[in-house]
Amino acid sequence: MKPIRTSVIKTELLIDNLDIATSQYLDVYDPGNFSQLVGMVAQATTFQVDQAVSSAHAAFKEWSKTDLLTRSELLLKAAAILDAEAPHAIELMARESGMLLNINKAEIGMAANIIRDNVELAAEFLQPKKVEDDASWVSIEKRPIGVIAGIVSWNAPVILTMRKLAPALVCGNTIVIKPSPLACMGISMLLKKMAAIFPPGVINVVHGGAEVGDALTTHPLIRKISFTGGAKVAEVIMKNAAGSIKDVQFELGGNDPAIILDDANIEDLIPKLVGGVFRRSGQFCFAVKRIYVPENIYDIFFNRLIQEVAKFKVGHPLSAGVTFGPMNNRLQYQFIKDLIERTRQAGAEVIELGEIMDPATWAQGYYLLPAVVKHANPELEVVLTEQFGPVIPVVSYRTEADVIRMANQTELGLGSSVWSSNFDRALAVARQLEAGMTFINQAGTSRLGQKNIPFGGVKRSGIGRESSEIGLGEYVEYHGINYHKM
Ligand code: NAD
Repeated sequence: MKPIRTSVIKTELLIDNLDIATSQYLDVYDPGNFSQLVGMVAQATTFQVDQAVSSAHAAFKEWSKTDLLTRSELLLKAAAILDAEAPHAIELMARESGMLLNINKAEIGMAANIIRDNVELAAEFLQPKKVEDDASWVSIEKRPIGVIAGIVSWNAPVILTMRKLAPALVCGNTIVIKPSPLACMGISMLLKKMAAIFPPGVINVVHGGAEVGDALTTHPLIRKISFTGGAKVAEVIMKNAAGSIKDVQFELGGNDPAIILDDANIEDLIPKLVGGVFRRSGQFCFAVKRIYVPENIYDIFFNRLIQEVAKFKVGHPLSAGVTFGPMNNRLQYQFIKDLIERTRQAGAEVIELGEIMDPATWAQGYYLLPAVVKHANPELEVVLTEQFGPVIPVVSYRTEADVIRMANQTELGLGSSVWSSNFDRALAVARQLEAGMTFINQAGTSRLGQKNIPFGGVKRSGIGRESSEIGLGEYVEYHGINYHKM
């Protein structure tokens, strides 16, 4: 079918607060309707990556000397810009990424709050720590690092970018962002509006794939790389960073277990749990990726679960009534389709649920129905790997010791959740999980948690943390000054 060229958006690079065109553009098609060309995105050359880094490096000289109040005021204005621009960005985000409008709206609101949280936390965090005795005076001071490379994935581009940009800038660093080619237009539109209120060079944006990523992560003027994505690319980045001894911070994949204890209130938990599995059609890092249920309540639980999953209405994110969008890209779509096939071949029962909203256009997008694997064997591939899509295995267990062992048996350790009506019992289980985060009776953080919990994972789920004062700590160097009194 010939592409329809309606409201095609052109996204350029952003260097020194200027739109920079290139000779090569990437066509972006709607993953929910392949016939729609959404936009064209400038692909940076290595020379342009160097220009962006040099611009950030030049801007660092003055920006790093600005006082915290100035930086904080500008960031708060940037948060207000995000809120104001949200209505103009959410449709574009839906068309380029397949994510629902209400998800995009919530994402931008949360991203604005991430900026506000960082500003608030920085006021105390950046104060020097002073100690003194009769012989000497010591000050431990926090300094910006320099130019940061922020590289992000496609699944929640605004949140992921702001988790890097806000702490980097409030601590006095400058930044070069590389969004994912699979969701770069909405975030670029927002970044351009935000960057305009900062001195040129403080925020720069380059576009491209692995080649641009390599140029950025090997650049000698980049002092730190903050990366959100998969472990395979993280391995490459770590090698690239080694060449000039750059620091790295990684937010990688998860295979988050949800542990249902036998005293959990099934009626209350099911809607929350289903949201935790299938929001963004299962495409988010701390989505629930495997569910463990005591065998004595398995049937009641499973029947209630499939009733809830069956309510999803699958279709294009801009169509009325749709509650479940397409996969973001072909690779993801094919991986999940193949994984379901392999799961069936291994003898498991995979139940596909939900309503197809428009059968006529089903084959025109990367559409999958939400799927549930009944009585999943704990050793199945779908249990042990990160699926990052809408198929959820439900495993039965006998004892708490068994379920804790199964929950910890993967190389990933991002989030996790425990569901129980007994806080002490749930807490005791939570404390035995190998994960960066555990949520009790929810599949995500509260507003208080978003601000205070360091976000990230253990083992192959990452290095370092984002958010909270721990996340701010990723963007400073320490400078110790010791005055000898005699
Ligand atoms: P990916 O690793 O393929 O890509 C991530 C980014 O890296 C993209 O911008 C990509 O263009 C870039 N990239 C590719 N090659 C590069 C190179 N050689 N050098 C530098 N950059 C390069 O991951 P993805 O498919 O975008 O995202 C999916 C993965 O991300 C999943 O595993 C998911 O769990 C994880 N993720 C983690 C978090 C978190 O906070 N822990 C959040 C979202 C997604």
